[in-house]
Amino acid sequence: MVWFKRDLRVHDHAPLTEAAAAGPVVALYVVEPAYWRLPDTSERQWRFVRAALADLDAALRARGVALTVCVGEAVAVLRALRASTGFTALWSHEETGNGWTYARDRAVGAFCRAERIPWHERLQAGVWRAMTDRDAWQAFHDRVLSAPSVRAPDRIVAATVRGEVTAGDDPLGLTAEPLVESQPAGRRVAIGLVESFLAGRGRDYRRGMSSPRSSAAVCSRLSPHLATGTVSAREVLRRIAAARRSLEAAPPDARPVPLTAIDALVARIHWRDHFTQKLEREPAIEHRSPHALFEAARAPTGPDDPRLRAWAAGRTGWPFVDACIRSLAATGWINFRARAMLQSIASHHLGLDWRASGAVLARLFVDYEPGIHWPQVHMQSGHTGINVPRMYNPLKQSRDQDPAGDFIRQWVPELAGCAGDAVHAPWVAGGVRGYPPPVCDATAAMRAARARLAAVYGHPDFAAIARAVYERHGSRVRPVRPVPRMREARRAAAAQLALPGVGDG
Ligand SMILES: Cc1cc2nc3c(=O)[nH]c(=O)nc-3n(C[C@H](O)[C@H](O)[C@H](O)COP(=O)(O)OP(=O)(O)OC[C@H]3O[C@@H](n4cnc5c(N)ncnc54)[C@H](O)[C@@H]3O)c2cc1C
Repeated sequence: MVWFKRDLRVHDHAPLTEAAAAGPVVALYVVEPAYWRLPDTSERQWRFVRAALADLDAALRARGVALTVCVGEAVAVLRALRASTGFTALWSHEETGNGWTYARDRAVGAFCRAERIPWHERLQAGVWRAMTDRDAWQAFHDRVLSAPSVRAPDRIVAATVRGEVTAGDDPLGLTAEPLVESQPAGRRVAIGLVESFLAGRGRDYRRGMSSPRSSAAVCSRLSPHLATGTVSAREVLRRIAAARRSLEAAPPDARPVPLTAIDALVARIHWRDHFTQKLEREPAIEHRSPHALFEAARAPTGPDDPRLRAWAAGRTGWPFVDACIRSLAATGWINFRARAMLQSIASHHLGLDWRASGAVLARLFVDYEPGIHWPQVHMQSGHTGINVPRMYNPLKQSRDQDPAGDFIRQWVPELAGCAGDAVHAPWVAGGVRGYPPPVCDATAAMRAARARLAAVYGHPDFAAIARAVYERHGSRVRPVRPVPRMREARRAAAAQLALPGVGDG
């Protein structure tokens, strides 16, 4: 029994290759309705998965076995398949998902132990389960990602599955969320994205990745593919490394993409595991801050909170912020900087609980990956205790990233008639009919947010707790600075902390 989860591919899939070598195979995907009802999952994610399943099924059939798609709770499905097929071993990849999938995997583990079914879990990422030594993580990660890709089996002998087990076309009945643009799924698409990036699409990656006008074209757009595993990060990295080697021989101006762009992309693909390792190490950070003092200071936000609703609906009155979230809602993707700004503004300017805003973003992302998402939400909310707290000025971001205001006019049609700087700050000239004034004064809100941070940074236990967070999660690549900079905190905690300046963008 090969259980596909966030690994919807046949290439570089050790569980499939090993199982195919061991005997007849059932290739299984379980559509779990309870998962798709969680507050961090959505129909747009399911739609991408469903398209990827069709692609996986075709790849499996070409090798001799169809994908068996069952709907239900994983243990119940496995129990029924055990009865109908008599399978004797379970193969899958290790998964770092959310708390729900973690609990489900524990239940599957208990079922396998009770039934004496060996469960062979294999690594698909450089994420270390039950890590014993954070200092040794980088070497572990590098070893996993540089290992050779696993060859897909040429032929798979299909085991007989009796009974009606296949899911219908729409097994979940989720309300459709039509997107104005959506990324196609499938292995060929994912490989095509790598190739087009290397053939020239990524030329301006480093310069263009942060502007919403250029990022959709220059970024790799691999995220939903990596999140659902239609291609493995290891295979992507190998393809990039091979292309880089051949480009090294060419003179710089004859290269379709500069080596610096390639290296920047490679670095980001490695960051995936750095973040995911945090959630694997401490699954509770999906629900609580990694730093106990920030958790103690957290005030819950209700779903009907007017600021949360304004932010989620793209009606904060800050045009660039509204354009970013409306564009994300319409397409399912937005670049890193916009994600960081949206989360930072929710936590700092609007004082919202990161759990509420983080769930809104998670649902909007087609590429939702809990292991990246929640640690990024913590980082952009400034409460890890080990990263520089960064606040984004909505007006500065607007002028920097969308100077002509075209992106704003595209996504906030109420401002289509605004010329010049008015598109960035319509409130200055008295506002625009149908578009709200700013939800609060940005400068005063940032000042208040800094004061809230400073109160935590100034606590006598702050540094000791930050040190423990660093020991558990901190990157060992750069020289250690376990406590971030912050001017206010230095004043507040003069004796203990040395923190010059707060990150501001
Ligand atoms: C608040 C917040 C939430 C985020 N949530 C997610 C999420 O749920 N799923 C997700 O895939 N990414 C998430 N990111 C990271 C990043 O924004 C996206 O990976 C990236 O924008 C996807 O576009 P791309 O594939 O074109 O990226 P590229 O820039 O082309 O990067 C290539 C790949 O590297 C990885 N990557 C890129 N940036 C990061 C990063 N900062 N941290 C870790 N890995 C990275 C992704 O797998 C990405 O597909 C989040 C960032 C923030 C600030």
